Amino acid sequence: MKKFIKKLVADVKFADAGTGHRLNEEPAPKPGPSSAPAPTPRRPPSASAQSAGAAALARFEAANNKQSSGLKAQQLELKRQMQRQASEERSVSVQSGPREPEVVPQLGLKMVCPVCGVSCPKPDISAHFESCLEKELELKPLETTCTMIHTLNKDEEKLAVGVKTLAFFVQNVVNCPDDEKYKKIRVKNAGVQKKIMPLVGGVEFLEIAGFTRIADEADDEEYFIMLETPTVEHLNLCVETLQNAKKAAPTLDRDVKVLQPSVGSKRYELSSDFYRITKEDLMAEQKRRAEEAERGEILRTKAMRDRDAGIGMRIYHYTIIRIRFPDGLILQGTFSAHDVVESIFKFVESALRHPVTFNLITPGCPALKRDSTLLKAAGLVPSGLLNLSTSDQTEFTLLSDDLVCKLSDL
Ligand SMILES: [Zn+2]
Repeated sequence: MKKFIKKLVADVKFADAGTGHRLNEEPAPKPGPSSAPAPTPRRPPSASAQSAGAAALARFEAANNKQSSGLKAQQLELKRQMQRQASEERSVSVQSGPREPEVVPQLGLKMVCPVCGVSCPKPDISAHFESCLEKELELKPLETTCTMIHTLNKDEEKLAVGVKTLAFFVQNVVNCPDDEKYKKIRVKNAGVQKKIMPLVGGVEFLEIAGFTRIADEADDEEYFIMLETPTVEHLNLCVETLQNAKKAAPTLDRDVKVLQPSVGSKRYELSSDFYRITKEDLMAEQKRRAEEAERGEILRTKAMRDRDAGIGMRIYHYTIIRIRFPDGLILQGTFSAHDVVESIFKFVESALRHPVTFNLITPGCPALKRDSTLLKAAGLVPSGLLNLSTSDQTEFTLLSDDLVCKLSDL
């Protein structure tokens, strides 16, 4: 404590470089040749004096901890009120037509890495996934190699044949551990060339199982040779892991949000991640237009002509679904255009505080049927707003506490 005070004093002295004075008093007039009695105007405290003051204040606060916790709660509540008010003001200015150009938030897609579970913006996920796999390969070589075999070999048939052949080679050693012929596989063997060598991860798997790739100068051939026979447990584990491994691909992050009513009614823009035009999409669109032209439409709006010229044509593969709850709060999730209506119901159920029976209603339409209609076909792409109606009477919001805590701006 003495040390602290000493420092405080030193700071003040240094700051003023003159006679010492209390922080809350006028500085004493400096003695000088001119002894004019005119009072010197008060100078603002210097930076170090301010920091010394702040430190003293902090000490004071610490001493009055009991009181300050109540004060903090009050301050927090006030801050919340101010934020609420600010948000309401913002929304009013948007609704009444903004004078300044409106900043439209852009919604991007996020994907979840299957290895570590981290969520990344879509454009970054490939690089992230790759580096995650590399790290995993060092930590868990067998599991990761098997996952890579199942993930990176896109041709299902070749994958199935490759996995069967790899398992066969290892299983032979398990069945006949003393038979040397199963421990030496010629690389140029037609089956190996056709089924193993083109398989991504195939050679790596054989090496993990216990084979070593060796060139034999005697017959100028390459072989996979088991120099030492691994334990039966290791060989069995390799076969099991290979056969049970699953494809690992990044999945769409629902990116669940709960929005305040005022925020939920604001405009937003979808990032280009949401749409891309495939060759199939283009052909289908061309066919549809040809049919329309055949029907001989004479009256065409500008929007139609634009569409024919390909302006603004976007085929969306993802969609933002918003569900407005009876209390006005809006639940938002990102879906694939190929998801089914049933998935929205499940999404809502997972967000509820407790189970309730509910209907989802698109304004002006009958209640949504809980079935396997694609969101695309249900007209819920690239976005959809649904109202949740329920007979459940409750004072509290139907949304779970976890979600309400996430209440956010876009
Ligand atoms: Zn990861």
